[in-house]
Amino acid sequence: MEDLVFGPVPSRRLGKSIGVNNIPHKVCSYSCAYCQVGKGDKIQVMRQEFYKPEILVKQIENKLNKLNQHDYPDYITIVSDGEPTLDINLGKLITCIKKLGIPVAVITNSSLLHLETVREELSLANYVSLKIDTVNAHTWKHINKPHKSLLLNQTLDAILAFTQHYTGQCVTETMLVKDVNTSDSELSGTAQFIKLFKPNIAYISIPTRPPAFEGTLPPLEETLLRAHETFSWHCLNTELLTGYEGNTFVSTGNFYNDLLSITAVHPMRIDAVKELMAKTNATEESLKKLIDSNVVKQLSYERQTYIVRCFKK
Ligand code: SF4
Repeated sequence: MEDLVFGPVPSRRLGKSIGVNNIPHKVCSYSCAYCQVGKGDKIQVMRQEFYKPEILVKQIENKLNKLNQHDYPDYITIVSDGEPTLDINLGKLITCIKKLGIPVAVITNSSLLHLETVREELSLANYVSLKIDTVNAHTWKHINKPHKSLLLNQTLDAILAFTQHYTGQCVTETMLVKDVNTSDSELSGTAQFIKLFKPNIAYISIPTRPPAFEGTLPPLEETLLRAHETFSWHCLNTELLTGYEGNTFVSTGNFYNDLLSITAVHPMRIDAVKELMAKTNATEESLKKLIDSNVVKQLSYERQTYIVRCFKK
């Protein structure tokens, strides 16, 4: 039997996490333009058994047995090379993992939430991440390339139904693709929808690995700043996911490290950067060096000046 459990990997969202791949390679209800797993081999909406939950749990136990206490995970994360809710045994799997005494996270594309059983099973998890790239059906077809039986409105209604009763940690993830879902109306439409259920955190991410479809590009830093400000303006607790997995919340006292870790998550207003400079004994020259070497960028938005992280290689 292949190895279906990996890690622990450090994750900004989940601390130390052990990943469980409960779906065979790229069996998914979507075939997203930005998918890092490649083009969809099999786009399906029919739930089925892929692996026995007992086998997955045994592999998790084996992995845990080999870890020392320092590496013990904060979460077991069901995150597949496909869509985890296609696994008909998802509820059983979550229940069995929770018996090991470790919280369970599930990263889903949200497309099967219209099924009551999927909502019930997901509600067993301690943490659920819901994909919401757009609320525009045309853009959704372009970016997520869903199975032909799926309807965006049905998915959006199901997200509201799920989040109304879910008591665990709920976050959203919105992947931005250059010139596809980044217009002002797209961004405010997505933010307005997410605001309806106020997740713990609304993450904005960008493609950082080679995408399935050529020409799928990350947006410019200016767009990312606009997206962050639009989401924040809608009172969403917004964070960027740009591939950096460091710890934002621990100050190192070093201007370079602190500025990079904070701007990886939030664009920083220049007054806050100046406060950081004062705390870390940095000078204007230190900031200029980072700007000149394209590590960060200074941008203006709505009459404010921001420092944003450059994420393009
Ligand atoms: S939902 Fe995830 S696995 Fe499925 S195609 Fe999109 S990015 Fe790939």
